[in-house]
Amino acid sequence: MNIPAAARAQAQDLLDFVDASPSPWHAVRECERRLQAAGFSRLEESERWTLAPGGRHFTVRDGSSLIAFVVGSQAAAAAGLTLIGAHTDSPGLRLKPKPAEEAAGMLRLGVEVYGGPLLATFADRDLSLAGRVNVRTADGFASHLVCFEQPLLRLPNLAIHMNREVNETGLKFNKQTELPLLLGIAADGSSAEARFRQPLADQLGVEPADLLTWELVAWDTQKGSFWGVDGEFIADSQLDNLASCHAALFALLAAPPASGNRLVALFDHEEVGSESAAGAGGSFVADVIARLAAGAGLDVEDQRRMLARSFFISADMAHAWNPNFPAAYEPGHHALVNAGPVIKSNANQRYSTTADSAARFMGFCARAGVPCQQYAHRTDLGCGSTIGPVVAARLGIASVDVGSPLWAMHSIRESAGVLDHAYLIAALTAAFSQ
Ligand SMILES: [Zn+2]
Repeated sequence: MNIPAAARAQAQDLLDFVDASPSPWHAVRECERRLQAAGFSRLEESERWTLAPGGRHFTVRDGSSLIAFVVGSQAAAAAGLTLIGAHTDSPGLRLKPKPAEEAAGMLRLGVEVYGGPLLATFADRDLSLAGRVNVRTADGFASHLVCFEQPLLRLPNLAIHMNREVNETGLKFNKQTELPLLLGIAADGSSAEARFRQPLADQLGVEPADLLTWELVAWDTQKGSFWGVDGEFIADSQLDNLASCHAALFALLAAPPASGNRLVALFDHEEVGSESAAGAGGSFVADVIARLAAGAGLDVEDQRRMLARSFFISADMAHAWNPNFPAAYEPGHHALVNAGPVIKSNANQRYSTTADSAARFMGFCARAGVPCQQYAHRTDLGCGSTIGPVVAARLGIASVDVGSPLWAMHSIRESAGVLDHAYLIAALTAAFSQ
């Protein structure tokens, strides 16, 4: 399979993006860095905004959700909005507020399960810690990002000699008792709590006692890679859904100046249902759109006209057909790797796609010269969902759910196609170029 150099470069840029984003807070910081390099300015939600046609801005809520936008040159009521959404979070293991414990001379960190990871894939990986930590200051606290590049943690498997049936019955962990991550050997005169706090304090250059609170994920330190006989596939952690975040951001930065308003909304908390202040079910996107409308001087009537002319593309990964498990898939709706973006439909509105919105997205793909595919889940299997229906219901705008095919969704090491990422970027850029 011939992989053009441009597609390979975009896939490499995606892997670099993922590897710079071990947590949702790091993902937002990496987006912020790229946006600022492209001339976007940060707006604070707590300040007054002054918006003008052609303005390029972004704003961040709670450190892990970000909305970037370009103000259109045409009157917003007539031009509407084109909005592309994705999510910054991925399922996995999160440290508890008081994680450190000693067990028969070993140090362990207690974790909670965030979302629905394939837990077995977290075993025997070179895990470490990343996230945000609040440190006491003279007048309160300050928030910092931390990330350990060297592996600090591990979830060692039980040997097959003690788990003889594992290959027949599957690898299972009791979430309370068998998931704590090994951190080290206990030392005389130093508590588990002290041993856990010390590396965090050292990285931040503060006293251990001044560490107040944290949200820390166990991340996989292995970098992204290309694989396959022609290097036509990629593998990394968190491709669901940092690949869509990257494609949406790439499209926003690549699209030529246009008359309409363009927004990219990257939400935290999709994997746990989106119901939070920063999530897709919260007010974030509606608040930003209201401020865009106010900045353009729209009255209520014109705001409704603007929304009626708007379109939302919810970008999240799709289940790629796996030849080893043909019975898991709907035979007539295979999503093949390296065969283009997938339009996801579900009659029960687990996806927001309608016949109209699907046809519209097909038009973007045609304009970009990329193939596209249609996916439906097996009728006898429960279907997943994403931010599409949540945002569509909240804003009342036309919406489609799309995404690149992905193998092993919610594994700590997912894989996808190099061409598919380039195709998705091209289709989203076409959507932003009208
Ligand atoms: Zn997802």
